[in-house]
Amino acid sequence: MEIYQVIALPDPVLRATAQPVQTVNDAIRAQMKKMLDTMYAYEGVGLAANQVAILNRIIVIDTARRESDVKKPIAMANPEIIWRSEERWDYKEGCLSIPQMYADVERPKFIKVRYVDENNQVQEMDAGGLAATCIQHEVDHLDGILFIDHLSRLRRETILKKYEKMRREEGHVL
Ligand SMILES: [Zn+2]
Repeated sequence: MEIYQVIALPDPVLRATAQPVQTVNDAIRAQMKKMLDTMYAYEGVGLAANQVAILNRIIVIDTARRESDVKKPIAMANPEIIWRSEERWDYKEGCLSIPQMYADVERPKFIKVRYVDENNQVQEMDAGGLAATCIQHEVDHLDGILFIDHLSRLRRETILKKYEKMRREEGHVL
């Protein structure tokens, strides 16, 4: 099984804006599949194309695996959040591109997302709770936004300091 390498902060590709997919063809389907394989290999519940240095608007998620071993992979091209609930909630988020850092992020608890599926068909999906948080987190990635951007400046700087210290100790050049 071939997987991508997940890119970590501070790589600038994480701050880039991904471009719309014109058609979900074999090449895009192959990217979707490899992204799903990568997400499972890294034990994530979601992954956005920017995180594997591809600037196509593609995300993959599988939040079902938090509750069971059954895989329910979903791949979305051009995901667009077309409705957000006023009700909000907190979830402790992490990100494969900011390894080992977690923080409570408040977001709308329910959303509706429109996307193009692996068969190039437009779909709409209602999501709540973890799935809603995950989709919002991944769609943010496509616009170069990270979960730490939703925190207060003080909390963001605290996390970044901790992250940079950890990366230096691991021998990464920052
Ligand atoms: Zn992320």
